Formats: sequence, structure tokens, C-alpha cells
Amino acid sequence: MKKDDCIFCRIACGEIPSKTLYEDEQFRVILDLGPATKGHALILPKDHAANLYELPEETAAAVMKLAKKMALKMRDKLHCDGLNLVQNNGETAGQTVPHFHLHLIPRYKGDGQNINWVPGKPSQEELEAVRKEITE
Ligand code: AMP
Ligand code: ZN
Repeated sequence: MKKDDCIFCRIACGEIPSKTLYEDEQFRVILDLGPATKGHALILPKDHAANLYELPEETAAAVMKLAKKMALKMRDKLHCDGLNLVQNNGETAGQTVPHFHLHLIPRYKGDGQNINWVPGKPSQEELEAVRKEITE
């Protein structure tokens, strides 16, 4: 369902124009207006879901299938050297638009972007405690 006050709903349904790379019944893929690199795109489901927690399982599976298709197209057409998939959930994680979207970020040698994190150095005991916390 479309949410009238959601900008990505309005873009996904075509009410607000966008640079569309692909569209089908379920999704629209658009160029990001503030691209990290050339070709930075967003996969938008047409039905509103605020984030991954709310996204129906079938849609989640379909998103990844489409991401693979788009990744191959970007590699072939843009000749990128790599590609990051990024998907933010919640403000703390950097989500600024509360409508699920998957970033496709083509990467080029020397593009100066840094989509990485500072690795921690947990002990085996600390890792085990986290494993238990999540699984038990
Ligand atoms: P996130 O921080 O994961 O919520 O990503 C939101 C992304 O949407 C950012 O990369 C923005 O540049 C992009 N964005 C915001 N508004 C628009 C818009 N109207 N059209 C295209 N991209 C947008
Ligand atoms: Zn929406």
C-alpha cells in the first residue's frame, strides 16, 4: 500500500518523477539524487514498508533477486570495479528516509568513498557471549 506522506512511495508509484533505471509491478529502481559514486541507485518496493523489519519476506527475497540483476547490468554498462549493497534501518544506522530501500553503489578504483567500519577486537569469550545472546 502507498503512504501519501512518504516521498519514496510517491516516487515508486511515479507520482514524483525520478531517473528510473528499471520498473516492474513490485519495484522501481532509481538513481540516487546524492550519489556516492556514478550510478548509485536505490531499489524501492512500491508497497510501503518502513524498513527491513516491516518488509514482507517474499519482497525481501525479490529485492535480492533484483539486486543481482542490477549488479550485473551495472558491471556490464558502467564497467565498475566493484559494488556495495547498503541497507540502513533506523536513524542510528543512518536511515534518513523511512521507506525500505536498498542502495546499489558501484565502486571504481580510487573513487575515494569509504563504506567500511572500524573493526573491533573481541575475545573468543566476548564473541561467544554475543552468539548466545542472539541465539538463545
Ligand atoms: P538512507 O540514508 O539509507 O535513508 O538513504 C536515503 C538516500 O535517498 C540518500 O542516499 C539520498 O541521497 C537519497 N534520496 C533522498 N531523496 C531522494 C529523492 N527524492 N530522489 C532520489 N534519491 C533521494
Ligand atoms: Zn513509503
